[in-house]
Amino acid sequence: EIMPSLVGSEMCIRDRLKTLIVEDESSLLELLKFNFIKDGFKVDTATDGEMALEKILNKAPDLLILDWMLPKLSGIELCRRIRKNKELKNLPIIMLTARGEEEDRLRGLETGADDYVTKPFSVNELMARVKAVLRRIRPMFTEEVLSYKGIVVDLVSHKVTRDSETLHLGPTEFNLLVFFMENIGRVFSREQLLNHVWKDEAYVEPRTVDVHIRRLRKSINNDVKEDFIRTVRSAGYCFGS
Ligand code: CA
Repeated sequence: EIMPSLVGSEMCIRDRLKTLIVEDESSLLELLKFNFIKDGFKVDTATDGEMALEKILNKAPDLLILDWMLPKLSGIELCRRIRKNKELKNLPIIMLTARGEEEDRLRGLETGADDYVTKPFSVNELMARVKAVLRRIRPMFTEEVLSYKGIVVDLVSHKVTRDSETLHLGPTEFNLLVFFMENIGRVFSREQLLNHVWKDEAYVEPRTVDVHIRRLRKSINNDVKEDFIRTVRSAGYCFGS
């Protein structure tokens, strides 16, 4: 099956979404991996429940595609454990179930999956579910422009303006600003910012965060405008006045 290719803008936005696909059937896993990568997602895979749990606890993905029947730890048990974890309870999960497992599907939703598709499914159907779930749970990821009190970030062109003046941000400052604007008013520790913004970099010291926050402040405030980045003593940083 050939997927219609997505327009560049959608790919741009998905590029930030790390998807973990958990499936023990290798041909299906390869097919899914191929299609998610083609659509611009970053993809990691696991072939059993324990391996998946280990990967998730090590670094949480942005989206989880989870097979129901898995060796070692079932999809449903994995789902239950994820939902019990405070840090992971909002992770979007789409479950893959076999035909005729109606009861299982219900249990799956009770356990905390956001949606499910029944095997055999078309890739188009799964992608439609993925989009719907992301729109519902992480609406910011389907937006192309973020704005907050005069600051406008175009996620497609990567252009940032404040009160219509163009700002020049380095790549890390850009990612930080996007993350803050997707989470207005929430306080993040340095470690959390490292996890979310520096995702794939092997080792970065927490104080590196302070350096980039300082640069971001300089770029967006130009020493004269209102500072929306709040330093929260002994906790971390928060964006929003
Ligand atoms: Ca399976």
